Amino acid sequence: MLKLLLASQNPGKLQEMQFILRDLPIQVISPAEIDIDLDVKETGKTYAENAALKARAFAEASGLLSLGDDSGLEVDALGGEPGLYSARYAPGADANDADRRAFLLKNLEASPRPWTARFRATIAIAQPRGEIEFTEGICEGEIIPEERGAGGFGYDPIFYLAELGLTMAELSEDKKNKLSHRAKALEKAKAFLLRYGHK
Ligand code: IMP
Repeated sequence: MLKLLLASQNPGKLQEMQFILRDLPIQVISPAEIDIDLDVKETGKTYAENAALKARAFAEASGLLSLGDDSGLEVDALGGEPGLYSARYAPGADANDADRRAFLLKNLEASPRPWTARFRATIAIAQPRGEIEFTEGICEGEIIPEERGAGGFGYDPIFYLAELGLTMAELSEDKKNKLSHRAKALEKAKAFLLRYGHK
């Protein structure tokens, strides 16, 4: 069976990706399962460059087909910030997700609502011999000033989906994994993966 290594150490993302890919005839592997621990610096200028850096580094280290992703939250009132820097947005090296949400809300205080925003994800699938393919997914929503829900990770408790009347953190795992930016990008990636599986 084709093996696919997920090029991420983020437990929230790994769980989502394992769930979304569970129906494929592919063995999905996390880095910990094969004792790979790589800290790939996100030095790219685009989501695609960062996704490719991760996918290529893990493919080279393992010799396996590897799937990297890069994602971020783009808030219109902040000119698209935090964007590429979503994971590092908030002062202090030990800032956590809650600190980043608080920092974002502080920066939005002076702007009129609604605070329209979107999550964007790019997936890169790298073969050990260097070929690479990309897909993208977008999820539109709005930032709200109070936290709601206990699911998901990152900015989920303040990312509101008006058509559902729920934040991303209030969605069931099943629902988030149908409509999230990463789910949409991964759905598109499934076509490539099936093709590799049949080679
Ligand atoms: P990276 O893709 O590892 O660079 O991280 C992107 C960052 O964007 C994460 O650390 C989160 O802060 C944020 N982010 C990406 N996807 C999601 C999501 O599905 N929910 C909440 N926050 C997310």
